[in-house]
Amino acid sequence: MSSLCQSPIIVAMDKSSLVEVQTLADSLDPTKCRLKVGKQLFTRYGPAVIAELHKRDFEVFLDLKFHDIPNTTAQAVLASADMGVWMVNVHASVGLDAMQLAKRYLQEGNYDTLLIAVTVLTSMTQASLQQIGVDADINTQVQRLAQLTQQAGLDGVVCSAQESKMLKEVCGTGFKLVTPGIRLPEDSQDDQKRICTPAQALADGSDYLVIGRSITQAQDPNQKLDRILNSI
Ligand code: C5P
Repeated sequence: MSSLCQSPIIVAMDKSSLVEVQTLADSLDPTKCRLKVGKQLFTRYGPAVIAELHKRDFEVFLDLKFHDIPNTTAQAVLASADMGVWMVNVHASVGLDAMQLAKRYLQEGNYDTLLIAVTVLTSMTQASLQQIGVDADINTQVQRLAQLTQQAGLDGVVCSAQESKMLKEVCGTGFKLVTPGIRLPEDSQDDQKRICTPAQALADGSDYLVIGRSITQAQDPNQKLDRILNSI
């Protein structure tokens, strides 16, 4: 895909009204960032919110983390690609068959939408993994699911910056790492447990940085985006 945007920044549009989304999008520049739409926004406004962002020339990461039987997962990925989104994702724990089928549907339809997977949610602890029957330690589980994702032919995974170095070594440079939990030193940590600066995350191998509140709650989001871009 020849892209208008060469920036590694993906701004998380975690807003609850369409007007807020429009205002934020109007204050940002589509050559300097892409935008992420998640379940909160998409459940409320559906494809209309994607259309609003596309109208403003933004590339969109639709972060719906699909997890269902193979046909349903693959059809949902296809429906996302039909909206023209730049990137979409599934949970890697959906399994090899579902990921392979989703990738096949995209290839057969000649879509250039990137398909990535979530390994282990960064909100999970060792104890919560055990509660769902996973005895492996978190790093082992992350690595296992990233390799399964790669085996299925997907384009990359969402991971914490702490995992980027390990995953880059295991999966190689072509496999995209998309990393949330990014803050500049002056930012509030909010509810993120493990944070990382943009420069450090890129140095460790992250390809794209998902940044929410650091930009969306700044008085001048575009100026904050510039400051972040200048720091990397
Ligand atoms: O505001 P903040 O920069 O913390 O936003 C990070 C964004 O990345 C939010 O949309 C959050 O849901 C998402 N995310 C995350 N951790 C993950 C996966 C997604 O923070 N493991």
